[in-house]
Amino acid sequence: MAIPMVDLQLHYQRWRHEFETAVLHTLADAHYVFGPQIAELEKTIAAYLKVPHGIAVASGTDALVLSLAALGIGAGDEVLTTPFTFIATAEAISRVGARPVFCDICPQTYNIDPAEIARKYTPRTKAVIIVHLYGCPCALDEIGAFCRSRNIALIEDCAQAFGARYREQPVGSFGICGCLSFFPAKNLGCFGDGGMVVTPDEALARKIQMLRNHGCEQRYFHKIHGFNSRLDTLQAAVLLVKMRYIELTIAERIAHARQYADLLESVPGIRVPVVPPDVRHSFNYYTIRIAAGRRDSVQRRLQEQGIAQAVYYPLSLHLQDVYAELGYRPGDFPQAEQAQREVLSLPLYPELTGAQISEIAAAVKKAVSDGAV
Ligand SMILES: *Cc1c(COP(=O)(O)O)cnc(C)c1O
Repeated sequence: MAIPMVDLQLHYQRWRHEFETAVLHTLADAHYVFGPQIAELEKTIAAYLKVPHGIAVASGTDALVLSLAALGIGAGDEVLTTPFTFIATAEAISRVGARPVFCDICPQTYNIDPAEIARKYTPRTKAVIIVHLYGCPCALDEIGAFCRSRNIALIEDCAQAFGARYREQPVGSFGICGCLSFFPAKNLGCFGDGGMVVTPDEALARKIQMLRNHGCEQRYFHKIHGFNSRLDTLQAAVLLVKMRYIELTIAERIAHARQYADLLESVPGIRVPVVPPDVRHSFNYYTIRIAAGRRDSVQRRLQEQGIAQAVYYPLSLHLQDVYAELGYRPGDFPQAEQAQREVLSLPLYPELTGAQISEIAAAVKKAVSDGAV
């Protein structure tokens, strides 16, 4: 039987009755925009993340764009970030007219290297966007201290890290803004696009509330240039159902990651994910590393056997065509470039079974030890 990266059909079936009840109720209630489920979801997620304010928006990308816009970041400003992430992180910086300045990653966690942040800082730096890649929290003590010392904004891209914790504290609660994505394949996914900004700052929360709704607080009285970036009530209703089970599904992800590690950590040629001390990795993805030169053939072998796998990400952002204008060259970020050649993500979702994990691990192990040619 083929094994997919995520099985959204199975996930739907698991709580089908609750999803359908919530959706049908919302359809009949007919408050499709800013229905009561929006405020309820904002309260639920803010409480879960231990942050005072949550503002639901149309996507994770918009959460980043609106955060930057609300902080007044734009033309002439630099924002430090990682080149080893999904395009949306840097795209948001470009979208508001600022310049992304990339910082290489730590080879163990694939997250932004705090020492690089200090090296790339200039007086034009207004913010740092960190990404807790694959669900692994960044080095928040060091990064937080640096941002405070320079008085620059810390924005957390938590799109892949809902439910992750650093020293018991939820990620998303460290920065001035925590940006969440509810894209279906994320740890907390809805049935389409969605996102949220969480922030401890009341004035900033107000501003983001205005930005997402055409720059107004009171309808038809517009104070600032805004966007149309609202979350649908229907998606909020679905997310409220999923929030009932979020600790369960994250615990399942962590248990699956444990099983993978038990089966793969001693295999020569494979590096399993490094989980730093004092963190809860929320395993949106289970990403192994395969010694240079072999990754692609291992990937092909799994593909032939019907086992899904993916490379997040095959081309670091500094080498993307869209960023040719920034003038970076191959070799500028050696750790990110090595990671793009070596990482391979394996299927990981709450409903995955122990038998499937054993099958995947055995196939990976065989492909790697055969040299997979
Ligand atoms: C998914 C993702 C986003 C964007 O979220 P959308 O909801 O798809 O707009 C941003 N950053 C990272 C790291 C992501 O994985």
